[in-house]
Amino acid sequence: MALSRSDFDQYMVPNYAPAAFVPVRGAGSRVWDQEGREYVDFAGGIAVNALGHCHPALVGALTAQAQQLWHVSNVFTNEPALALAQKLVSATFADKVFFCNSGAEANEAALKLARRVAIERHGEKKHKVLSALNSFHGRTFFTVCVGGQPKYSDGFGPKPGGIEYFEYNNLASVEALIDDETACVIVEPIQGEGGVTPATREFLQGLRKLCDQHDALLIFDEVQSGVGRTGSLYAYIDYGVTPDILSSAKGLGGGFPVGAMLTTAEIAKHLAVGTHGTTYGGNPLACAVAGALFDVVSQPEVLAGVRQKRQQFVEGIAAINAKLGVFKEVRGLGLLIGAELKDEYAGQAREILALAAQQGLMVLMAGPNVIRFAPSLVIPQADIADGLARFERAVTAFVGQ
Ligand SMILES: *Cc1c(COP(=O)(O)O)cnc(C)c1O
Repeated sequence: MALSRSDFDQYMVPNYAPAAFVPVRGAGSRVWDQEGREYVDFAGGIAVNALGHCHPALVGALTAQAQQLWHVSNVFTNEPALALAQKLVSATFADKVFFCNSGAEANEAALKLARRVAIERHGEKKHKVLSALNSFHGRTFFTVCVGGQPKYSDGFGPKPGGIEYFEYNNLASVEALIDDETACVIVEPIQGEGGVTPATREFLQGLRKLCDQHDALLIFDEVQSGVGRTGSLYAYIDYGVTPDILSSAKGLGGGFPVGAMLTTAEIAKHLAVGTHGTTYGGNPLACAVAGALFDVVSQPEVLAGVRQKRQQFVEGIAAINAKLGVFKEVRGLGLLIGAELKDEYAGQAREILALAAQQGLMVLMAGPNVIRFAPSLVIPQADIADGLARFERAVTAFVGQ
């Protein structure tokens, strides 16, 4: 039975609009579709495939674990989860880890924990969550309401209360909101979905200070910025600002679904037995893959490589822009790169995505005006050059339209 893109429209809930082609195989930073057409992958499964497709270390870890033990639930613990937790604790500020299956779940746990801490330490009044306008924290109802994009949270009935929004990179707007009822401030060190906008160091330092002054917890959502994406294991290390709680997912499993919430021992103790949980969190298959990925990504030469590869991207995009003049800014950190379209091309990122696919290139958008690149952290130089050549052809077709 031949399957095709049209089966998506026939059988799947229509909440996505996938590309016209159907990928069937991947290796490194190359992907092939049903027709055997080859693509260079600058999308990386939305900053997930940190080691590209079918990396031998991950395939090895997954297949070895598949012969060993798949699932036991959290009624029992397991060795891959314990090993991964140890690695994350030894490499970060955290003393304790909670595993789950996605970014939204990691943020859900972070937000529930922050409220629990505030209420147990200070009483029911201390419950407010402060979050940035234009932020994205996932699609469960709590996290999507905390995310500062009403287009994603409207239309589902009454929302959870106690959530207020500040302007990203505007400390005065946080100062105007934060008070003794604030339980936590949640922020992406780099707004990903919102347009690939990095925080300023002053802003994150200021948030740290305000949270300390008001006994509020600082949560960094590093679902997109984490696991080597910026050239450090987590972006908070680049910024030199340490959160109380950190959420991680996307790149953590390199394509196998896994999420984690990291925190200190003092804070973690508020999630006592029975207060929170998940059936699959800490699944042995997921943790075996994530453990193998961690070992590769945490190598200094891999992290240094991210910074070099960024340079190649930024120079390549600048050269294309010098010829074709479509972008007003190229920004981001490490291999999370956003190229914002000039005002005359506003709203047309989706057209460039389609033209890129025609040239055999997978890229992303981050809102209607920004082309986003989130490739493998180990993408070879030759693939970057090839992909950028394809990108130039796509942008040439775009301006010639
Ligand atoms: C993708 C993303 C999420 C949601 O992760 P899911 O795995 O899709 O639930 C949350 N926060 C940020 C910053 C993200 O980029």
